[in-house]
Amino acid sequence: MTVTTNVMKLKMYINGEWRNSSNADINEVINPATKEVIATAPRATKEETEETIQVAKDAFESGVWSGLSAQERAQFLFKIADKIDEKQDELVELEVKDNGKTKAEAGFDVSDAATCFRYYAGLITKPDGETYHVPEPVQAMVVREPVGVAGLIVPWNFPLLMSVWKIAPALAAGNTIVFKPAEITPVTAMKLFEILEEVGIPKGVANMVMGKGSVVGQTIAESKDVDIVSFTGSTEVGRRIMQASSGNLKKISLELGGKSPNIIFADADFETAVDYALFGIFFGAGQVCSAGSRILVEESIHEKFVERFVERAKQIKVGPGMQEGVEVGAIVSQDQLESILEYIEIGKKEGATLALGGNRLTENGLENGYFIEPTIFTNVTPKMRIVQEEIFGPVAVIQKFKDEAEAVKLANDTDFGLAGAVFSQDGAKALRVIKKVRSGITWVNAYHPTYVEAPWGGYKQSGIGRSLGTYGLDDFQEIKQININLAVEPVGWFSN
Ligand code: NAP
Ligand code: MG
Repeated sequence: MTVTTNVMKLKMYINGEWRNSSNADINEVINPATKEVIATAPRATKEETEETIQVAKDAFESGVWSGLSAQERAQFLFKIADKIDEKQDELVELEVKDNGKTKAEAGFDVSDAATCFRYYAGLITKPDGETYHVPEPVQAMVVREPVGVAGLIVPWNFPLLMSVWKIAPALAAGNTIVFKPAEITPVTAMKLFEILEEVGIPKGVANMVMGKGSVVGQTIAESKDVDIVSFTGSTEVGRRIMQASSGNLKKISLELGGKSPNIIFADADFETAVDYALFGIFFGAGQVCSAGSRILVEESIHEKFVERFVERAKQIKVGPGMQEGVEVGAIVSQDQLESILEYIEIGKKEGATLALGGNRLTENGLENGYFIEPTIFTNVTPKMRIVQEEIFGPVAVIQKFKDEAEAVKLANDTDFGLAGAVFSQDGAKALRVIKKVRSGITWVNAYHPTYVEAPWGGYKQSGIGRSLGTYGLDDFQEIKQININLAVEPVGWFSN
């Protein structure tokens, strides 16, 4: 590993102070396009995590944040959004260095992050709660309140954006937070907390602890003083979080993995379908939870589709994310690289046909980084591991179907239910089929575009709860009924 100068020294943000850990074990953060160390980050102990949870609990109980009016909290959130915009270039560059994604991809992440803060700043000042016409003399109403201390745990694939999807609604609703970035990609999270400090979020309201999931994340999930844990990551860790959360029956929100079907009928606009299928799986080097990793193609156009899809995928330029013209960036880490390459080997052993790629790229300046060429498998069967398991890399499997019924059957033949798409110019058929796809995020004649206004989350083992939109705020609110007796006199149930 080559160590360069300009290594950033990241710190944790606890109770309004920038802190190191007492733990001598330091996390080295690398740029996956070059393997250079770009930062070091502390690894908090269990005790330090518990102390931070206490800080957030005290801040919540003090009312310093939940006691503000919605308008006042919204003003902080609008300022955060403005600062994100001001620092757009810096944030993009850091995200590219830390995660390996392309400049264009990071550009979307950063502007979406600002939009998300603005959306929740606006939403929190809008009418909420309800009143009910219950029998006189009672007036019944429902009010929404913050849940309390929110534990937020995020993955490495959209380091800034996944953080913001949780931090913005949690703060808007009046919660205090203990946030943990992924060890692999903590850099932009620290920049975000610098912004929170700059705009003057009160001490103790927003805290960031860095460190291992098995220590910091596990402590957050187990804590009796955390009232909600909101987690985005793998289904395997999601299951562990659910178990750990059972101690105090805290609220949980889980955004997990996927193996999403992209169904292409013979009557689709052919070039549009090919184009979105490429975008669906190779955007973000396939390290995207909602990736269209299973492409289901109607038998009559299967051959033509594979030929064109391979031809287009061959032209994709893989390389360092900041380089002009690069369309697919690096794989985030050595572990992730090895895991993807292992799945490619599994696919070959299972008897699938490797129609394109399959290799690590190590030439023309890519020798120091983690790069994999766009990879396509055909002749797969439904039970193969490469068809069932989330590879989380630039690897597509193409399946063949005969008719509508088989398309739906294959699409739903997985434990996951995150995303899915249908391509057809027959509107009724497209709607019929997409309604049968058991997934939370779907498209017709498109793949991937998503909006802060609309709920994001999965069916089946892809998660519990929804992020974004009004649903994303619901996660961070408790619902209370208040019944007001308008005739103050005894109930008279007992005789004396
Ligand atoms: P991961 O391994 O599950 O890790 C996610 C986060 O959980 C990291 O911060 C990790 O800490 C932490 N963690 C690990 N073990 C933990 C434990 N025992 N208790 C509490 N926290 C723990 O996932 P990943 O590899 O970072 O990310 C890829 C996965 O995320 C994929 O499965 C992808 O589909 C999913 N994802 C889903 C969505 C969605 O919206 N549905 C969005 C993005 C990604 P470390 O710092 O130690 O890693
Ligand atoms: Mg991980």
